[in-house]
Amino acid sequence: MLFSDPLPPNETAFAQGDLVAVQTTQPLDRTLDYRAPEGGCRTGDLVEVPLGPRRVLGCVWGPGRGDFDLSKIRAVARVLDEAPLDAAMRAFLEKASAYTLTPMPVMLRLATRCPDLGAAPGMRRIYRRGPGEPARMTEARGRVLDLMDELDDGGAPAFTLSELASLSGTSTAVVKGLLKGGAIAEEEAPRDLPFPALDPQHPGKALTSDQSAGAEALRTALRSGRYGTTLLKGVTGSGKTEVYLEAVAEALAQGRQVLVLLPEIALTSEFIFRVEARFGTRPAEWHSGVTQTERRRVWRMVGRHEAQMVVGARSALFLPFSDLGLIVVDEEHDQSYKQEETVLYNARDMAVLRASFSGAQVVLASATPSLESWVNVQAGKYARIDLASRYGPARMPAMKAVDMRDEDLPSGRWISPTLVQGIAARLERKEQSLLFLNRRGYAPVTLCRACGHQIACPHCDARMVEHRFRGRLMCHQCGETRPMPVECPSCGVEGKLAAVGPGVERMAEEAQALFPEARVTVLSSDLFSSARALKARVAEIAAGAADIVIGTQLVAKGHNFPLLTLVGVIDADLGLQGSDLRAAEKTFQMMRQVAGRAGRAEAPGEALLQTFQPEHPVIRAILSGDEEGFWAAEAAARRAAGVPPYGRMAGLVLSGPDVQEVFDFGAALARADGPLRRIGAQVFGPAPAPIARVRGRHRVRLLVKAERSAPLQAALADWVAQVRQPGAVRLSIDIDPQSF
Ligand code: ADP
Ligand code: ZN
Repeated sequence: MLFSDPLPPNETAFAQGDLVAVQTTQPLDRTLDYRAPEGGCRTGDLVEVPLGPRRVLGCVWGPGRGDFDLSKIRAVARVLDEAPLDAAMRAFLEKASAYTLTPMPVMLRLATRCPDLGAAPGMRRIYRRGPGEPARMTEARGRVLDLMDELDDGGAPAFTLSELASLSGTSTAVVKGLLKGGAIAEEEAPRDLPFPALDPQHPGKALTSDQSAGAEALRTALRSGRYGTTLLKGVTGSGKTEVYLEAVAEALAQGRQVLVLLPEIALTSEFIFRVEARFGTRPAEWHSGVTQTERRRVWRMVGRHEAQMVVGARSALFLPFSDLGLIVVDEEHDQSYKQEETVLYNARDMAVLRASFSGAQVVLASATPSLESWVNVQAGKYARIDLASRYGPARMPAMKAVDMRDEDLPSGRWISPTLVQGIAARLERKEQSLLFLNRRGYAPVTLCRACGHQIACPHCDARMVEHRFRGRLMCHQCGETRPMPVECPSCGVEGKLAAVGPGVERMAEEAQALFPEARVTVLSSDLFSSARALKARVAEIAAGAADIVIGTQLVAKGHNFPLLTLVGVIDADLGLQGSDLRAAEKTFQMMRQVAGRAGRAEAPGEALLQTFQPEHPVIRAILSGDEEGFWAAEAAARRAAGVPPYGRMAGLVLSGPDVQEVFDFGAALARADGPLRRIGAQVFGPAPAPIARVRGRHRVRLLVKAERSAPLQAALADWVAQVRQPGAVRLSIDIDPQSF
């Protein structure tokens, strides 16, 4: 029954025929007025409304404005049988929209990303099965899949067979052909089961005094019932997870909901296992590895408060929690919390925003916090808890530089004699070594020794990278792959293609040649077909199935290898090249994270950093472990340059098929900088983006820099609106870009 529940104070009920404003998921820059349907509706209700010939998804936003021809206003077609988006959620979406300059319809789409929204159980519906294509593609099939892909993003209902045929202008035979091919699937809309209750009384571990003090501080913060953010800092293995699980217990005991964000799916299952051990049952999961059916269940149960805890990826921030009490952002510094998707947002910042509207506490956990969080602690905006040492006998590894200028190493080899000695000692003691190199594939460059040609991607300004394990070349920008050729694609000479520079696969080859008896294995995202496969391999390695592990940044992320006692960083200088002002911070975090993999259990660890510039301030800070000193120096440099977190920045990327058109648009923007100048902001560019062509589109970048207090978003919106954007050019605006 619609009105059986008591309404929250700021929710309004509308009777049939009342004028309501509906925010739709269609690209319109305002809400639309409708009449409330039979049975009425209330603010926050998810509804279907007629728009032209279609029915679209929307949310009742408030009373209508009535500034339209009243006789033309149509009625809401249907109120979905879903929990309404509450006032806190709606306010969050509005604020997030304004902050990221993302139109409200796109924001609402994020919040309604639930398969089969509003469908009655028992109905047979057709779903898209991932982004794959059928073996035989036809124009008609293409239309069906395009339609589904387009609407999938909007969380629109899945279709019945005949709906799909008529909406795509094809026949049921076409749809049946696709069903047979497996690109789409038909399922019965499931009945949703609530999640079993987690038991906060279940006994936890006996905490150390450091840990108890941290847990008590978080409990006290939660008892305030108000918003607050705490940075929970401690080296890997210090028990941050144990401490924030105590905060989870407190929130659960209060009957409030909990969201834990992890930067990578591969970390989920270990964490879920710990939650189960601690609270007696598994929490809900929300990430790309979760089936449609389960996603739907999570979305609905979260809205009804029948899921108490969700563990997931950053998009879980947009689930319709009705009483969110705690958000944990684990590994808060992780770059993957900010990704280029339709909406550019940093999950850490959005978590804080979301919590502030819900009166929730945020815990940002990290061994190597972001500079932003450190500055917020200094400014008194965040509280801070430190876990000083590792739990048990484990110690942070000894860090040493290997000065590559002094190492005797032939060209084409990257493992220094010093590192070789270290590995040999581990092999002797039956301990593991990890060699870290943040480069996927065999070699970054493939060069023809006959003509000098370097194999490049046809669609991007990027080289094709050889992946020797699979015998293919691959573009890391667009994913284009092709078999590794025998002859040079430019001059046609056979057998002259040579690998230049190191990748993880090549390191594996070198390590194997040095230690023929050793079991060498590579951990790199491209070598695993699924998170499950990766997780299985990580578990095998943790149990001792390898002697030497070669890994990309994947290994830096919280995996636990108890037998590992040596970390060798192949090229510690790699991240320090280029002009990115965040390079120092990123390198510092990455090196400390990677080094933190060593020596977790009884055996002490050692980290060897191969570098050509051991006197570089960042390398010195990494070696000395003087974190506070490093941050203070970094903060001072950022303040002097007037860049985030002290100044504000926005990055604009313009892209299009015609390079001149893209540049001209960029130049026109740069000239029309009146609205920016009025707030004292400066615009730089246009300049070619770091990768100047991706997927056949030329990319040009502009940077805008303003004082911290300047109303940047409003000025940006005015600025962009006054220059005509060519139809073929796309524009994306990134507030607080990750590199500048
Ligand atoms: P972090 O999150 O800081 O990396 P964890 O919470 O994962 O650290 O702790 C590292 C390991 O030490 C885990 O296996 C954890 O169960 C164990 N541990 C931490 N604190 C305690 C404790 N007080 N009692 C028993 N085991 C603990
Ligand atoms: Zn490419």
